[in-house]
Amino acid sequence: MTDSHPLDPVEAARLIAAHDAESLLGAVVPPIVQTSLFTFGSYDEMLAAYRGEITRPIYSRGLNPTVRAFEEKLAALEGAEDALAFGSGMAAISAAVLAHVGPGDRIVAVRHVYPDAFRLFGTYLPRMGVQVDYVDGRDLDAMAQALPGAKLLYLESPTSWVMQAHDVGELARLAREHGAVSVIDNSWASPVFQNPLTLGVDLVLHSASKYIGGHSDVVAGVVAGPRARIDLLRAEIYPYLGGRIAPMDAWLLLRGLRTLPLRVEAHQKSALEIARRLSVHDTVGEVMHPGLAPLPPGLRGTTGLFSIVFRDGVDPRAFCDALRLFKLGVSWGGHESLVVPGEVVLQQKARPNSAHAFGISPRSVRLHVGLEGTEALWADLTAAIDAARR
Ligand SMILES: *Cc1c(COP(=O)(O)O)cnc(C)c1O
Repeated sequence: MTDSHPLDPVEAARLIAAHDAESLLGAVVPPIVQTSLFTFGSYDEMLAAYRGEITRPIYSRGLNPTVRAFEEKLAALEGAEDALAFGSGMAAISAAVLAHVGPGDRIVAVRHVYPDAFRLFGTYLPRMGVQVDYVDGRDLDAMAQALPGAKLLYLESPTSWVMQAHDVGELARLAREHGAVSVIDNSWASPVFQNPLTLGVDLVLHSASKYIGGHSDVVAGVVAGPRARIDLLRAEIYPYLGGRIAPMDAWLLLRGLRTLPLRVEAHQKSALEIARRLSVHDTVGEVMHPGLAPLPPGLRGTTGLFSIVFRDGVDPRAFCDALRLFKLGVSWGGHESLVVPGEVVLQQKARPNSAHAFGISPRSVRLHVGLEGTEALWADLTAAIDAARR
């Protein structure tokens, strides 16, 4: 454990490295309870479960022990009373938002939110009569002007293309002052480097497909917060939208959590070093990495995802094709290094785009610095830059 970890080291070790208390025959890894339903020994037992007199699994869209083990660990890592896991980060986002808005309501969101969240806000929510206004998350005055009357403040910090980092505590305070529920996408920082609930945010969510899973083998999401809010989600939204996580996927997330602090520490170290070197490289016009400036209050560290904008002397297409260790691919948070060209994302045909909304420049590329080692990755990047000079 590192000093940057939010939990006391003994507690963190218990959560991440130790055996799970109720494991079968002392198994060091908890079982995958791969079942859709659970049977009862008697009519009375079934009745008691349906009446809520006993808490036990009935059907895996409701309660599943493997999923529950993940939810409890994640809640502890976020300093939350409870958490609810979902089949994707987008299922977590849509549930957290839809639980709080109805016709005539208004949402205030920071600019440059995750593109599919932006599209949810721009396509589905208007059909429900919900309006979303975007405000620069760094501009607290503009935020204070936009918030009166808003039902929900939707935050993402740092954002995941231009990596804008906000003063989350101040934004949460403003939301509270104006009676808006605050929700934040904390995928970039992970629970190791930022715990928004402790900064006053009402609900924190993650795409667990990223650092929490950490091995690029699962798509999942999670929402954490106070018990009353999670109970509301569990009772009024979760069973009906049905964005359930599979037990096997929850098990993969439990495995990912064991090494989360070690991994994000390694991502931080390599990515920061590479970002610093790129920031003084003659071919690079801009490096968008929150760690190159003082971090806002509450953000205790940085991870592996950042973007650069090339000057005219480098062809981004030739650069991407010349990379060997960095693979062309979307997503991030796994062991592997990845590159995404901004120009390609802007041409995505299947879904409407707006360069302005995401802050994506066609001369930018987004890098995810994986765990291959700083010097090997630096050699790959500099060789590709040299091959792409024109
Ligand atoms: C990937 C991502 C999501 C969506 O998560 P999925 O698991 O892909 O549905 C949400 N927010 C951010 C910042 C992401 O990077």
